[in-house]
Amino acid sequence: MKYAYRNGIILTGEEDMEPLQGLRLLTDGDRIVAIEPDSGDVPGYETVDLQGKYLMPGLVNLHVHIPGSGKPSKATSDTKTVVKLLSSTALTRRIIQAMVENNAKAALMSGVTTMRAMAGVLDIDGKVRDRGEKGEIASPRIISANMAVSVPGGHMAGSLAYEAHSAEEAAACARRILDGGADVLKLMITGGVMDARVKGEPGELKMPPEYVKAACDVAHERGLKVAAHVESPEGVRVALENGVDTIEHGAKPDAEILRLFKERGAALVATISPALPYALFDRSLIGATEAQQFNGRIVFDGIVECAKACLEAGIPVGLGTDSGCPYITHYDMWREVNYFRKYCGVDARFALYTATLRNAAIAGVGDDTGSLRVGKCADMLVLRSNPLESLGTLRNPAMVIRAGKIYKNPKVKKVEKIEQELDKYL
Ligand SMILES: [Zn+2]
Repeated sequence: MKYAYRNGIILTGEEDMEPLQGLRLLTDGDRIVAIEPDSGDVPGYETVDLQGKYLMPGLVNLHVHIPGSGKPSKATSDTKTVVKLLSSTALTRRIIQAMVENNAKAALMSGVTTMRAMAGVLDIDGKVRDRGEKGEIASPRIISANMAVSVPGGHMAGSLAYEAHSAEEAAACARRILDGGADVLKLMITGGVMDARVKGEPGELKMPPEYVKAACDVAHERGLKVAAHVESPEGVRVALENGVDTIEHGAKPDAEILRLFKERGAALVATISPALPYALFDRSLIGATEAQQFNGRIVFDGIVECAKACLEAGIPVGLGTDSGCPYITHYDMWREVNYFRKYCGVDARFALYTATLRNAAIAGVGDDTGSLRVGKCADMLVLRSNPLESLGTLRNPAMVIRAGKIYKNPKVKKVEKIEQELDKYL
């Protein structure tokens, strides 16, 4: 299919983007083939009249857990048992796959055209990625870690992550995951907010440094990157010293940590969305203890301070929502972009650039997507008003285009209760 997008205002997604008027953008199949002065309809191309709306690159979400819905559940349910049960038979695996496909579609309809799946059930995220690539389902481009590597008692151990008992086993787990078709390796190096039992100790180091190194070596030998869940300064140091390429979440950095980021060419993937409910909600809503909320605040502040310090030091900072966590749905990437503006002190332009081209580059696909340039994949969004003036317009895109395929008036079924709570923090 060939389309000529006319009468729109173009935002390229680049760092210095300005609204561009008087241009038309042509797509042929999945590619952008021209951005040129708009002199009318083009023979052989179906015209898409944008009627003054804004055309920009689709959003890139660097951190999602596709199987999770984001619906808050009061009971701290035993994820390990639930996942074990659900992945035990072909029928239940098909049910999980249907859930993953449903959530991937919701993400796409909300304007996310690329996402990094940062731990799921078995290799199901990879299967859904492949179905999306073949055009069998409506899905963003998925860069999948499939399962992660953790340690006994570590974050998501036994549910979305294998447990390694030694450095050799960490390497073996990494090989098994990458042999199974993962695009990126995910490690769980520290605990999470809800794992911590002691006040003041979120993100306790769980994975020994030699495990981290062994697993990173396996991925790097294959030319693949390593992302790691890290929520304490000690964890960030261990991750960077042993080869991790992207620090997921982050923690309050010192000069040594910033030096390591630079020396290793690593990036930070900030995730303000999942930390916010633990830090700022009434804790009865999330079923957190006082200690968990106290730790949640440390993690929230750590993520924000890490992002700010990295930006100041010229270290790339990307964004992810951690969707699947309580209150974090698959259609709320726009909130993360807005939180980044609000809490990290950047302007709307830089937030948009981060959520598109910079995120794509951090994910390793910046040459193919993330900005509107001739030759790139036609992953795009149409907005009713100028997002540089108000990022809130990202909430309901008028159109989503994934690899050239158009979804007009995309619909997402939203959970009203979650919308109401989160809208307090716009
Ligand atoms: Zn996560």
